[in-house]
Amino acid sequence: MRPKAQTAAPEIEALISLLAKVPGLGPRSARRAALQLLKRKDQLMVPLASALSEAAEKVGACTRCGMLDTADPCTLCTAPGRDDGLICVVAEVGDVWALERAGAFQGRYHVLGGVLAALDGVRPEDLRIAQLVARAGEPGVREVIIALSATVDGQTTAHYLTERLAPLGISVTRLSHGVPVGGELDLLDDGTLFAALAARRPF
Ligand SMILES: [Zn+2]
Repeated sequence: MRPKAQTAAPEIEALISLLAKVPGLGPRSARRAALQLLKRKDQLMVPLASALSEAAEKVGACTRCGMLDTADPCTLCTAPGRDDGLICVVAEVGDVWALERAGAFQGRYHVLGGVLAALDGVRPEDLRIAQLVARAGEPGVREVIIALSATVDGQTTAHYLTERLAPLGISVTRLSHGVPVGGELDLLDDGTLFAALAARRPF
């Protein structure tokens, strides 16, 4: 059996195989991206490499809310003028970005880091649920808004959280209509997000 022909230098093949692991890029797109990076070394590849290493070095999860930031606690946790009595629970950092883009929410956030998924082995202890219950029990917290997508896993998680938060005696609400079934928050347009948050309702 003949060995597979080497089409590019090992360094280039390594670059392509790493790029192919980036969500949204398959092997074909990874080859195109690698080629463009190599062709535009000064304008694209060198700045990208330094942005990647800077982000890897400086960005981490906020120990309070789970948001990604260079500061801990993050800038959203410490921003003055936000309502400490409201906590909006989301699955992922991208959901916070979507809500902030829409300017829809002026309270604090809590990022779970995913949703419960029995089939994928995601259990309550794999998410930032204990931290949420602790935060929600702090004095001054009036309401927890559960902003999870309308998927089966999202709704299972929402019901689980409602049960865990019930003993605290605070208000627990969810996003209203307008969130499509199976919809991910960060795919929604700003107006829909704004309306879903404004018309939230109790469980
Ligand atoms: Zn934070």
